[in-house]
Amino acid sequence: MSAVGDWIVVQEEKLKTTEIETEFSLNAQDRCDSCGAQAYIVAKLPTGSLYFCAHHGRKVQEQLQPIALSWHDESHLLNV
Ligand SMILES: [Zn+2]
Repeated sequence: MSAVGDWIVVQEEKLKTTEIETEFSLNAQDRCDSCGAQAYIVAKLPTGSLYFCAHHGRKVQEQLQPIALSWHDESHLLNV
């Protein structure tokens, strides 16, 4: 057991989390591909990324999520 080793693992975990968060940071410039409202959901597909508002994201989630490489959903921020 090494306390330093544990500390390094913790720092690495923090780094990973930060990378994921900065990879997708949706803002007011990101618009739903269906209606042009602010995007809260990004579906990464082999053909490219699709942006959706919370409404359209949920509408297509069942179809798209199984084939998406990643599914990023920030719609919970709407309820804050
Ligand atoms: Zn929309």
